[in-house]
Amino acid sequence: MRLILEGSGASRGMALGRARLEQPSRFLVDNTPLEQSEVADELLRIDQALAAARAELKGLRDKLDGPLAREVAEFIDAHGLMLEDPEFVEGLHDLISDGRYHASAALKMQRDRLVAVFEAMDDPYLRSRREDIEHVIGRVQGALNRESSVEERKLASRVGEILVSDTVAPSELVPLAEHGLLGFILTGGSTLSHSAILARSLRLPMVVGSHEALSHLQDGDLVLIDGDSGNVIAHPTAQDLASYRHWQRELAAQDKRRARLREADTRTVDGIDIHLHANAEMAADVARARSFGAAGIGLYRTEFLFLQRRDAPGEEEQFLAYRDLVLGMGGLPVTIRTLDLGADKADSAGLVLEDEPNPALGVRGVRLSLRIPQLMYTQLRAILRTTGYGPVRILVPMISAVEEITMVRRLVDECAMQLRAEGHQIAERFEIGAMIEVPAAAIALRSMIQHLDFVAIGTNDLVQYTLAVDRNNNELGDLYDPLHPAVLRLIAHTIAVCRRNKRPVTLCGEIAGDVYFTPMLIALGLTEFSMHPGLILEVREAVNTLHAGELRKLAAQLLRAGDRASIRAVMQRMRASMPTIMENADPAAAAH
Ligand code: PEP
Ligand code: MG
Repeated sequence: MRLILEGSGASRGMALGRARLEQPSRFLVDNTPLEQSEVADELLRIDQALAAARAELKGLRDKLDGPLAREVAEFIDAHGLMLEDPEFVEGLHDLISDGRYHASAALKMQRDRLVAVFEAMDDPYLRSRREDIEHVIGRVQGALNRESSVEERKLASRVGEILVSDTVAPSELVPLAEHGLLGFILTGGSTLSHSAILARSLRLPMVVGSHEALSHLQDGDLVLIDGDSGNVIAHPTAQDLASYRHWQRELAAQDKRRARLREADTRTVDGIDIHLHANAEMAADVARARSFGAAGIGLYRTEFLFLQRRDAPGEEEQFLAYRDLVLGMGGLPVTIRTLDLGADKADSAGLVLEDEPNPALGVRGVRLSLRIPQLMYTQLRAILRTTGYGPVRILVPMISAVEEITMVRRLVDECAMQLRAEGHQIAERFEIGAMIEVPAAAIALRSMIQHLDFVAIGTNDLVQYTLAVDRNNNELGDLYDPLHPAVLRLIAHTIAVCRRNKRPVTLCGEIAGDVYFTPMLIALGLTEFSMHPGLILEVREAVNTLHAGELRKLAAQLLRAGDRASIRAVMQRMRASMPTIMENADPAAAAH
């Protein structure tokens, strides 16, 4: 029966496909049959995972003390007994060697069997013990996943599937997309997470905060997801399918209309040139940036090169990736951002980082790079080596104090000296810029600006840090507000300081590619934007209808407005000149 589940749209577009559920314990099941030659390895894997789970339980038991130690020990012992149970273990072995199931599939079958037995019990207490089964098997599954999650995800074909999960890591997105996955429904997640940013780059629709998805959907259900509204329709009707086809036709028509803008200038009706650069995370973004007429790469997020691997990439590997980016842009400017790991991105980067209670306020971005000098040297050398191939700028994330910039500049100078001594052809001078994403940097920009060649405003983080609202926590909803007066004033101040000091300033947060915000940003004096390449034509279409002079007259009103209602009223007046564009406003803006 048709069922609508609500969530928030995190990556636009619709997708129709079969639901593929992954429970939070990450049951990554490979259902392809094993070859005879793979059986021995798979038996070894399951035995190692069982041993690891037993060792974990023993470790837990050894640490017990305090008043409840005895009771807890009994639970742990019961779990341990299950892992020793010959019937359980032999059952797994039989499924692998006779049934030719992968370890993950065999484990899932054993789990399903045991859960069915417990669920059939009359005694409510015993019935509730199925939780123990989930925990024990989850532990074994965890041990299996640790060695093979990416491999298993890579192996399994995802053609025609929509992943339903609690979260998805940025590193998992690319292999999933390469294997034909169509979209994501996440019970958790956020529209501003790096996974959402990457999904937008990959043009994969994503719905986040769809709390009921895992409990209401089943594997194989036909689902239609709408990454604009955030709605998920399970078992769509003929009418739903008709609107899906209608959307596909509209999209094709819109693409055709906008294709005419590929070669066009981006200029307001009163003749102000606006430069639209592309954000890039992967090589494919370069081709798209070129084809949509980007003015350059305004933000290359290097951390994606570090994800999905066991060790950090070396200088040569980084150099080749950056050089290809520069070559690919054929002489247009490229801004390469140094590593911005920490917070939500560190886990799968092949770097061992200490767990932090508050990673967004911890060792992130430039703080991490300065603490691991070898990491920064390697990256800076790789970037500097590309300066012989085209115009390259170096952008430093998470700057909060001028000393960080002077330290980076010193390292750049040292690397440049070494490289020249080694005979590399590199530029004479290097442009170094700061991401303005920590409020302190925006507020103190005047005392920092002389040390900077350019500035990039990172509103994704600036909003989070100014308002103390976690960008990855969708539950905070409306509180994450790029139109908060404090945020508007910081953006306006940053642009004004840069203009006064003749420093180029770009805005590269998600709002740069959202036409809802375009008039407001032009009103504040912004002329350089950087966004997902796929949004360039839409923003160009919007800019070409706007009158910068008229908008600037409204800027003072906007900055004076102190509450949501009056800010939105000014926004409305600013947007009045672009009525057709509004229908296409980004879903993230729908909340504003
Ligand atoms: C930002 O914070 O706005 C930004 C562009 O950087 P990131 O999203 O990579 O943190
Ligand atoms: Mg940022």
